[in-house]
Amino acid sequence: MLILEALNALAGDCLLLRYPGPDGNERLWLIDGGPKTNNKKGITVWKDVLLPRLRQLSPKVPLPIALGMVSHIDDDHINGIQKITQALTAATPAKPAAVKFQRFWFNAFDQLVGPKPQGLSAETEAASVQSLVSTQNLPNVDDELAQAVMESVSQGNALAADLRTLKLDGNVPIRGLIQAKPGQPAIDIEGAKVTILGPRRDRLEKLRQDWQAALKHPDKASRQAALQELFLPASQQDKSVPNLSSIVLLVRVAKRSLLLTGDAHGDDIVAAWKELGLPRQAKLDVLKMPHHGSIRNGTQQFLGFFQANHYVISADGLHDNPDPPMVEALVKMHGQRAIVLHFTNEDITWSKAYKIEKNGKKVKKLRDLLAELKSAYGGSWTTNMRKSTEHSVIINLP
Ligand SMILES: [Zn+2]
Repeated sequence: MLILEALNALAGDCLLLRYPGPDGNERLWLIDGGPKTNNKKGITVWKDVLLPRLRQLSPKVPLPIALGMVSHIDDDHINGIQKITQALTAATPAKPAAVKFQRFWFNAFDQLVGPKPQGLSAETEAASVQSLVSTQNLPNVDDELAQAVMESVSQGNALAADLRTLKLDGNVPIRGLIQAKPGQPAIDIEGAKVTILGPRRDRLEKLRQDWQAALKHPDKASRQAALQELFLPASQQDKSVPNLSSIVLLVRVAKRSLLLTGDAHGDDIVAAWKELGLPRQAKLDVLKMPHHGSIRNGTQQFLGFFQANHYVISADGLHDNPDPPMVEALVKMHGQRAIVLHFTNEDITWSKAYKIEKNGKKVKKLRDLLAELKSAYGGSWTTNMRKSTEHSVIINLP
């Protein structure tokens, strides 16, 4: 049996995967740890959702985790895991941490951007990176999201340092950057076969070139502007550095397949699938929708390319995720099949009304959208909502 749980990670991601290992005993993975505390909701994902859920699953302390992973450095994915690695570095035999990672996958920021340009002093490089994470140095960035993106760089560096202290660095057994490479064999993680679809090598190459070019700007102001553009591109498509560097995994285990996408761009995932020569009938049991169901990542090409039985959307309405046109496109393209749409949060109201493409009706709530889509399109699709009394929405594959 294979079980994927999408925890209530608010606007972020926090996933648990359970499956029988080669000896028949259950293995557990933890992928992403949700965002910082949401004061309005009074919820801290790692403390109020993740740890209590782990306790429900097993009384064992520390609980072994076969694979821990952070898909990318954004706060809504890294925060909870960083709290756990902090606890691990402070743990003693008498006071163990809640979990014990047997291996960990994470692409540290300095590995992603590669070595600094030749001739640039270490001080200038450090100052430039520092300028990304210091609010005073960001006169052009006053928006909370932008600040969070910048802060994520320092969170990533702190996580990387913890992993080194815990001897969990190096992405065992890969021993290097996690990246999609044609010809790279699937990696066995205690009985699960893992194929890496992201980040793509050409994306990383471009990121390195852009990073070096930005650092080579002659003066501080233009250097900072170039670095900011890398993190907060002006275009509509989601092409920010952290999201494009998301780790994307195809996991095949217990005769099932799951695609875990982080906040990657849908078109990149399709391109990687083709580059790696994976089956052209791209059938999956479970598809974790990229970037909280944002339409900027869930392109038409992406939605049409993959045929999943279960679609998982981790979002709470922040930034209007999941995007209503993405939900309609899913129903329109796949709703005649008996698919299930799984949501971590049902109570979602968008900032403005969405006009349904099929019947022109306007809706402002996820609940209303789903009811209207059912009557407009019919079909065999169903939904599975996390119950407010539970920590997760559960996708159970016998
Ligand atoms: Zn995210």
